[in-house]
Amino acid sequence: MSLTPSLDRLIHQLQKLPGVGPKNAQRLALFIFKKGADFSNALSEALLEMSRSVKYCNICSGICESDVCDICSNSLRDHSKICVVEKPTDVFHIEGTGQYNGVYHVLNGLISPLEYLTIDKLNIKTLVSKINGDGCAVGELVFALPPKVEGDATMALIKKMILKPLKISKLAQGIPTGCEIEHIDSMTLARALNNRS
Ligand SMILES: [Zn+2]
Repeated sequence: MSLTPSLDRLIHQLQKLPGVGPKNAQRLALFIFKKGADFSNALSEALLEMSRSVKYCNICSGICESDVCDICSNSLRDHSKICVVEKPTDVFHIEGTGQYNGVYHVLNGLISPLEYLTIDKLNIKTLVSKINGDGCAVGELVFALPPKVEGDATMALIKKMILKPLKISKLAQGIPTGCEIEHIDSMTLARALNNRS
């Protein structure tokens, strides 16, 4: 169903959001219209500001608003310990446990043969070349990837590419299979971090 040209344009954009189908996009567009000009201005300013300010950290590929994130630039963190996660939001969830003092590496995806998400599209090579490089002080990798086939495959591949002896651990069992890291409550995640195997 077509509404007005500008509503249709907004609906078209909203439909690109994950989990938003045509009906939901239409409902959201009408909601935004009804909220009035102040709301639309604030929403578009927030979107513009976000797209101008948020970027990937040059070191860990987490998200931040400077070239290097607060965690990577913090000399009090243990830079010899890298926690490997799938998504930038996983960093915030693990930080929320207050149980981890190392740094992170965000892969921005997992190996998924079905989706053809191969190694070149992931942020794996930067991690591996950092570890394999001369004078690297990294001594431990902590895998905090979702306990599912793609997480295991990604971990196995990274392990195979590492040419140096490293302490390698992963989150303890107890996290439901197939569960996303962001859906695990802080207490369970903290326990899994402390009992990693
Ligand atoms: Zn960083």
